[in-house]
Amino acid sequence: MITFCYAKWLKKSNLNILAITHHFCYHVFMATQQTTQSGWNIVGHEHAIDRLRRTLAARQVRHAYLFTGPEHIGKSLLAHRFAQTLLCTGGADPRVAPLDPCNTCLSCRKVAHGNHPDLHIISRAPDKQFILIEQVRALQSDSARKTLEGRRNVFIIQGAHEMNVQAANCLLKTLEEPEPDVVLLLTVPDSGLLLPTILSRVQQVSMHLLTSSQIKTALEQRWEVESEEATLIAALAAGRMGWAVQAVEDEDLLAERKAQLEALTKLPMVSKVQRFEIAQRISTDADKARAVLELWLLWWRDMVLAANKCLDLTVNVDMRNILKQQAAKVGTTEAERMVRAILGTMEALDQNVNARTALEVLMLDLPAIKM
Ligand SMILES: [Zn+2]
Repeated sequence: MITFCYAKWLKKSNLNILAITHHFCYHVFMATQQTTQSGWNIVGHEHAIDRLRRTLAARQVRHAYLFTGPEHIGKSLLAHRFAQTLLCTGGADPRVAPLDPCNTCLSCRKVAHGNHPDLHIISRAPDKQFILIEQVRALQSDSARKTLEGRRNVFIIQGAHEMNVQAANCLLKTLEEPEPDVVLLLTVPDSGLLLPTILSRVQQVSMHLLTSSQIKTALEQRWEVESEEATLIAALAAGRMGWAVQAVEDEDLLAERKAQLEALTKLPMVSKVQRFEIAQRISTDADKARAVLELWLLWWRDMVLAANKCLDLTVNVDMRNILKQQAAKVGTTEAERMVRAILGTMEALDQNVNARTALEVLMLDLPAIKM
């Protein structure tokens, strides 16, 4: 019996196979999804879009929205599209936001090019640990002034859970007494990461993982990816369109995954000394260690499936032969134990346990395979 719940794990782990920043996805999307057609132009997420369109149709736009869902699922993209619609002047009545962005009016084009004066993007600076109070104060001063071109001042706070306590409390004041024409759009992987006082003042828009067939079809039709490659990327994307697009745009991402996996498949056959050397090498960089562990987790989850004769459900579709061979030797119990051991190591790293020690313990847990 398969006891490991993949969907639950994905939600919990914010899967990030090879560390990539969440700021990148939006630009990839915008670069590849620019069209002159009217519409939201988003793959999937119909439920979330319908909800926003109903709000627009009823002319009941709230002051704050919270977009939630796993990393690289398209939260920033949806927030940008909503902002674009709120600022679009291409509708029947240019004074009212249409139900869909027209993508052709000056306002839509400015949003697409990132230079609309009434759309403000706030995110953690790459060299900082948090979104800082100064950034929220700047938001407050911008929100107090009159709009320059549009009907509204729209603010997108990407990764709002990265606000430190001071910044979050400062934002709370804006949420409690919002300026009439201000709309705040927050994105977070999980609503539980925000203060309850903030949560109670935002309208939540939940976004969910797409199916692999949705992703595969989109890759083939919109990005003209060959069928075989689209199948592989769609499987690895594990429901996250943003990751899939990035894998199409950045060839190194898949090449590095392949190299990492090939090294991983050899691990059960090497000596403990060699394993410890590898543990030491990985543990020097915390982000890299986490990325490698996530890849391993995906691999061992596939091993559980392969050991249970469910090879067709495995994600690493290009490695099924070797999965089948190794699973026959490892067996279900050992594969499940490894999944638990990797999850335990990831938790230990989250709690700042010494990375090298944690990885060395994991290396000892790895079953030996004689091929
Ligand atoms: Zn427009």
